Amino acid sequence: MTGHENFDAVVVGGGPSGATAADDLARAGFKVLLLDRAGRIKPCGGAVPPRLLKDFDVPLDQLCATANEARMIAPSGMMVDMPVSAGAAGGFVGMVDRDVFDEWLRARAASHGAERRAGTFETLARDADGTAVIEYRPKGAARGGEPMRVRAKVVLGCDGGNSAVARAALPEPAPKFVAAYHEVIDSPPEGVNGFAGGRCDVFYQGKLSPDFYAWIFPHGGKTSVGVGSAKKGFELRKAVAQLRAETGLDACHTVRVEGAPIPLKPRKRWDNGRDVVVAGDAAGVVAPASGEGIYYAMTAGRLAAESAMAFLKTGNAAELKTARKRFMKAHGQVFRVLGIMQWFWYSNDNMRERFVKLCRDPDVQQLTWEAYMNKELVRRKPMAHVRVFIKDTRQLIGALFTGRRQPEARA
Ligand SMILES: Cc1cc2nc3c(=O)[nH]c(=O)nc-3n(C[C@H](O)[C@H](O)[C@H](O)COP(=O)(O)OP(=O)(O)OC[C@H]3O[C@@H](n4cnc5c(N)ncnc54)[C@H](O)[C@@H]3O)c2cc1C
Repeated sequence: MTGHENFDAVVVGGGPSGATAADDLARAGFKVLLLDRAGRIKPCGGAVPPRLLKDFDVPLDQLCATANEARMIAPSGMMVDMPVSAGAAGGFVGMVDRDVFDEWLRARAASHGAERRAGTFETLARDADGTAVIEYRPKGAARGGEPMRVRAKVVLGCDGGNSAVARAALPEPAPKFVAAYHEVIDSPPEGVNGFAGGRCDVFYQGKLSPDFYAWIFPHGGKTSVGVGSAKKGFELRKAVAQLRAETGLDACHTVRVEGAPIPLKPRKRWDNGRDVVVAGDAAGVVAPASGEGIYYAMTAGRLAAESAMAFLKTGNAAELKTARKRFMKAHGQVFRVLGIMQWFWYSNDNMRERFVKLCRDPDVQQLTWEAYMNKELVRRKPMAHVRVFIKDTRQLIGALFTGRRQPEARA
């Protein structure tokens, strides 16, 4: 297989992780191909923290809306409003439209020298000298035809939760995931049926999601209404229809409906020990409990790009391991805490009710928003942690004594 075009790096997938990785590699002067299937808008609630804008130099005009409050809704219908100002003066939750945002990221990578191609990665082959050969089907070409081939010194798999690159190069099967589904609708007028364009509504109700949550995230003229669940057989579409009916959003025009998996466990290995490294959803880095993945995908994409650069400079394949190592060092603890939270609080309606009640607490609100804004557990507020720990423990003991942490029985 000689005579194919050579690249230093081929990045498969042009979502937030791949576009970030390609941009960083191109800016550093490497010859990069950014290969993206193209033509499908990533299903996503689109909520991002301000830290993302800062870390990745994203201008404010990429936000189609901002929210300054979250409303948590318990199984009983009790509502707790959490203003972002409780944890960060001037803070906000940003909203991105993924068709606009992802394209902007890809265009930025191209403006710094990455070559963009529209096509679907099919397989990873090897040249006679062992070099990786990426076989892909250009957009529009018939399935089963002769693929296009390019050679790469390093391959970055940023192709989402169903990563074909991970399947081709890594031994571990895909991590467990939550199936998520949302409907993009025209936003109702402000105030109608309690709708607020500056507020994210999060529903912790077993009827809408037995193990995750449902949401209403406003994006200016459009709104995302969605739900996630890892329970096999749970009917996501029915749950969204119910949520829309209960909130009066069934009267709004539906723009599009779409779903995708959200992986909730980082893969144990991100690299093949030779010349492939994965990042973003392909590496399983979406935060448990919240389902937040865009910021973590971009962070992982950057770390994968840095590990690839070190490998390209030194030839030492062990450099590829540093992407996961550095990511877990920075965010592993937050992921572990959120994983426990999801297991503990989302198990049944009794626990969800207690969880929403707990969110009334000013310490909980402050730590939640600070952690969201800054992407780290807040260490400089030890007394707030102690108070939240005591309240958590009280809830846990109460739940254990009443025997109410058992998961709900399913029909
Ligand atoms: C319904 C839903 C709601 C969500 N809401 C939020 C939210 O509000 N906030 C948040 O932070 N996160 C949210 N997430 C998670 C977030 O969308 C993901 O974590 C994030 O998009 C991951 O980015 P990525 O670049 O790793 O992968 P993706 O965004 O999935 O991008 C992968 C890219 O690879 C391309 N691709 C796939 N296969 C191939 C192939 N074989 N060849 C070539 N290209 C390929 C795709 O076209 C795509 O462009 C949500 C997810 C879902 C499903």
